[in-house]
Amino acid sequence: MSFLNRLRPQSAGNRYPNGEAFKQAVMDAYGFTESARRILTPTRFDVRNLNAPDGGGFWYGPDENRVELFGIQAEAAIHELAHAWADLTGFYDEHSADWSAWPTLNRAFRADVHHAAQEQDPQYPRISFICGEYEFGNPETGFPGMFENDAERFAGLASGSMGHLNAMPPSIRRWYTQLFTGDVRGLPGS
Ligand SMILES: [Zn+2]
Repeated sequence: MSFLNRLRPQSAGNRYPNGEAFKQAVMDAYGFTESARRILTPTRFDVRNLNAPDGGGFWYGPDENRVELFGIQAEAAIHELAHAWADLTGFYDEHSADWSAWPTLNRAFRADVHHAAQEQDPQYPRISFICGEYEFGNPETGFPGMFENDAERFAGLASGSMGHLNAMPPSIRRWYTQLFTGDVRGLPGS
């Protein structure tokens, strides 16, 4: 690739003028509820590369109220926005032993994930599979399970479902109905 080509935007390019525009596009396309959109309005949303669907990102917590993504990947955006929404709405009601800055545990939610992992309802194969990984780990990949990490449980199932409420067993779905409407269009190229 020539030097000049490298200066040109890759792929579609300039679809999103800034991180905030991508955040709005994701919330539109994946059916975030009106109330969730209101709660997430002040959440700053920085994207390092607005031209590539690179995954990964960070949520800096309710005090800073800021998300940073590596690229315009919808899955990563949904994941970090779910972290943000849960912390901003008081989804967790208990502090963990190793993190005292804000609550990160929700034992009732965790119990429902555990139940879904045991049940493995064939109507909901993907979410049942993810719940199984979270609760029992996976010796093949070496993933040990989520243990006490309810924040990753919650955000992981949000991005694992990509907002499809109907893909969740009812016991899991009930934790997400204030975040998602279930009306998912999707966002091509992300
Ligand atoms: Zn996470």
